[in-house]
Amino acid sequence: MKVLVINAGSSSLKYQLFDMKNESVLASGRVERIGMDSSIVTHEPVGKEEVVEVKEILDHITAVSRVIDMLIHAEHGVVKSMAEIDAVGHRIVHGGEIFKNSVIVTDAVKSEIRRLFELAPLHNPAHMMGIVAVEMNLPNVPQVVVFDTAFHQTMPKTSYLYAIPKSLYKRHKVRRYGFHGTSHAYVSDVAAKVLDKELASLKMITCHIGNGGSLTAILDGQSFDTSMGMTPLEGLMMGTRSGDLDPAIVPFVMNKEELTLNEVNSMLNKHSGLLAVSGLSSDMREITDAMDDNEEAKLAFDMYVYRVKKYIGSYAAAMNGLDVMVFTAGVGENSVVLRKAVCEGLTFLGIELDEELNAKRSKEPRVISTPNSRVKVMVVPTNEELLIARDTYNLVK
Ligand code: AMP
Repeated sequence: MKVLVINAGSSSLKYQLFDMKNESVLASGRVERIGMDSSIVTHEPVGKEEVVEVKEILDHITAVSRVIDMLIHAEHGVVKSMAEIDAVGHRIVHGGEIFKNSVIVTDAVKSEIRRLFELAPLHNPAHMMGIVAVEMNLPNVPQVVVFDTAFHQTMPKTSYLYAIPKSLYKRHKVRRYGFHGTSHAYVSDVAAKVLDKELASLKMITCHIGNGGSLTAILDGQSFDTSMGMTPLEGLMMGTRSGDLDPAIVPFVMNKEELTLNEVNSMLNKHSGLLAVSGLSSDMREITDAMDDNEEAKLAFDMYVYRVKKYIGSYAAAMNGLDVMVFTAGVGENSVVLRKAVCEGLTFLGIELDEELNAKRSKEPRVISTPNSRVKVMVVPTNEELLIARDTYNLVK
């Protein structure tokens, strides 16, 4: 069975085609600047040369049609016809409290996703455009939706409720949902397999640190707590997001600076984090490259690391112990210096990093702690697309 995985954003659409016989990727790519004058399609067929095409793509329906054209193209294609695409899996950011697992798309599922637009106004409407675009292009192909929030639906009330009037939860479902669930689920599963242990027997913290970042405490094989909240703004300091702050700052700043709701939202989501503190960049590479002779970049790095450490400490306390800590995503997988800084001073928890193993580059999941370390520290490259392809395959087959 061949499964096409789609991650549709408001002006972009990423895709990967999997052959589920051996879970191999046949092609991947992206369409960028959808709806703008010169859209860019980048198609990477495995074993063939990359193709980049610039042309007008005004909507998601045309974008999906271009993706299919590329996949079946005589020269750049990887399948003979679109009849070879057996199923499509979509990444959906917000599944609310309704979706605790991945599901096959039906009319009822679509209306639930539409009802969730208000919880993820930047993401869910774009995902829905992706679903509709596939329906138009591949009318009889089953579609599956895989939610970033689903893995965290096991959190207990003590983790997911906020200490605010109950009516807000009852009326508007204001609660912690958590995100990056597909990634936390994938890397925790791989980590347990590499260690040859049952996931349910391990107290684990998975650190998904990329442009956005979240930590998850995994107990009894399930998400027990996670640092992102009702939206992806809560928790760690991120590339451009503030992460945790005193909520009273919001009305105070709105009043002093005469900001609208949209402006304050944009300030906290797009103009804060590493970018704001360093005044330089939201990209961790640029921060670590600059920090030896740039005090603000160093401060941004130190604040970022400090916040990761605080969450690790609090989750270890929440679980009354820690067996495994996993780094993943762009920063977690690649930044030797960040991993070292996070692990430094955590020997009281039983964390001892092996600096040589930490410095080694590899695309494989691996342990980077010393044999004596009571906590196994690991790097596990995430692969959200593969998990989406697996869920799609399992539901459709
Ligand atoms: P992601 O959101 O998981 O795609 O991660 C993207 C982020 O990973 C970028 O913003 C970079 O800051 C970061 N990144 C990628 N490679 C490196 C690296 N070698 N060192 C530090 N950060 C990196």
